[in-house]
Amino acid sequence: MCDTIDFVIALRSTSAEDAIARLSDNALHRLFNPPNTPLLIESPGICHSISTYLALEHSSQDAYECVCHSTMWNFLQAPGIDNIQSIYNIEKLICTFTSIEPIHHDMCPNMCLVYTGPLAHLDTCSICGKSRWNQQRLQGFDGCVKQVLAQTFMTIPLGPQLQACNHSLESAHATYVCTISTKGHGRFCVSFMTPKAFPL
Ligand SMILES: [Zn+2]
Repeated sequence: MCDTIDFVIALRSTSAEDAIARLSDNALHRLFNPPNTPLLIESPGICHSISTYLALEHSSQDAYECVCHSTMWNFLQAPGIDNIQSIYNIEKLICTFTSIEPIHHDMCPNMCLVYTGPLAHLDTCSICGKSRWNQQRLQGFDGCVKQVLAQTFMTIPLGPQLQACNHSLESAHATYVCTISTKGHGRFCVSFMTPKAFPL
């Protein structure tokens, strides 16, 4: 009961800048200063990398690397071929272009709760008693004791996603049409999360 009241109090005073939200300075700046021009990516190599990454969103990282390697091998003279990106780089680039950055919170390995708000200070789960930390990794190779999280929970904040949807005429129109078509039907619009609406 006390935790519930603490959560209600915390929610009443929440803001984008509070420590619980964990938005980076860059993400906050972008949130309050949305871009007002379409995003233009001129390099065919980067466009190809983003398209491939989105098309293979449910596949393994190896699938992405194999497709990119095949493209580089078979289209040696193609313009922009040198700009095809590794999966690490393309994820970073997409974060840079859209300012959509995942937010990580510690959570119970049994998924009982997330260590945030009034629960942020706990070292063990108040429901199941599991430790917040991975006990097997507390002792480092160098003899130093390091605390390693047992589990983390990832959130993709909604604000930057909506801003990204309005970053091109096509995706802004798709979001608007979806909002109008679902209005009054009690359904939540999720079309802005689809790769097709990605602001390229
Ligand atoms: Zn638990």
